Amino acid sequence: MNLTSQIENIKNKISGKIILNEDLSKLSWFNLGGPAKVLFKPKNLNELSLFLKEINKNEKIKVLGAGSNTLIRDGGFEGIIIKLGKSFNHLSLFDQDTLIAGASVLDKNLSSFALENSLSGFEFLSCIPGTVGGAIRMNSGCYGEDISKIIISVQVMDLDGKMRVIYSPDIKFSYRNCNLDENLIFISATFKGKKNKKINIKKKINTLVKQKNETQPSRIKTCGSTFKNPENYKAWKLIKDSGCAGMKIGDAYISEKHCNFFVNKGKANSKDLETLIKKVRNKVFEKTKINLELELQIIGKEK
Ligand SMILES: Cc1cc2nc3c(=O)[nH]c(=O)nc-3n(C[C@H](O)[C@H](O)[C@H](O)COP(=O)(O)OP(=O)(O)OC[C@H]3O[C@@H](n4cnc5c(N)ncnc54)[C@H](O)[C@@H]3O)c2cc1C
Repeated sequence: MNLTSQIENIKNKISGKIILNEDLSKLSWFNLGGPAKVLFKPKNLNELSLFLKEINKNEKIKVLGAGSNTLIRDGGFEGIIIKLGKSFNHLSLFDQDTLIAGASVLDKNLSSFALENSLSGFEFLSCIPGTVGGAIRMNSGCYGEDISKIIISVQVMDLDGKMRVIYSPDIKFSYRNCNLDENLIFISATFKGKKNKKINIKKKINTLVKQKNETQPSRIKTCGSTFKNPENYKAWKLIKDSGCAGMKIGDAYISEKHCNFFVNKGKANSKDLETLIKKVRNKVFEKTKINLELELQIIGKEK
């Protein structure tokens, strides 16, 4: 059965949104990307499980959080994009120092919730524009902190629609990565902080946010750092020293404020961004013999 027929069958059993050929550009911070064959916004956990049980296992499935680290190609996504909505956007205090957050909670809301509950360790999340789900996949972090330092467990659903819990000692987190299976959908996670005075936590948040605003651009169409920092190097400096500052392809350009932030000025397409990425990578390699590794996730097909 083709995907459209499968979707017609499932639609009668589900009240969440299932949209065919949905434009994905509004789901990425770059504001770029072609359509997905299917966009599914499950109303709740049961619907997500039912959907996964019914859908053919050969279909490509990808979850998107806030899209703040994902470049979607112009040809769109040849499969199903899952976007977790309201019922995955919950926060609760489990005990004195333990929080549970749904996967679609914004990082900065998790940070604010921790502050409200006098828990420190979450301050850095005020600087990251993604969701809890994206932060776990990417082991997101800044200023010496990252998700691996506060996470206790993650509740996941597999492609058979079955739930399980994975505890942090069983997860290998590395710099902007983790070894959790690509096919798992993160549903929620449990985090542990340290009790501290609200005034101290607030002060740290303000310092980090200020530092971030001073060194990185904001209110632009970007996905943050394009490349990972190679060991003992800063990607932005390698890019700058290789003479790439100011480089552009069409409306895709490199931020003047931070050379590792690539930007859609307005009319760029994903191809422009990808061409710029390749050009910069080649230039840096020519000059330094260092092969920059992408931090950004690129999904979909070319047009
Ligand atoms: C201005 C700006 C500043 C940034 N600064 C930082 C920074 O300081 N530090 C940093 O680490 N990053 C930074 N980023 C990058 C980005 O915000 C992080 O990587 C963020 O954690 C991505 O979250 P997201 O929800 O947007 O993920 P998305 O871009 O939507 O997805 C990223 C990956 O996570 C997967 N994913 C998302 N949700 C789930 C889920 N529920 N289950 C399974 N997989 C899932 C996706 O499939 C994809 O592979 C910045 C980005 C911007 C635009």
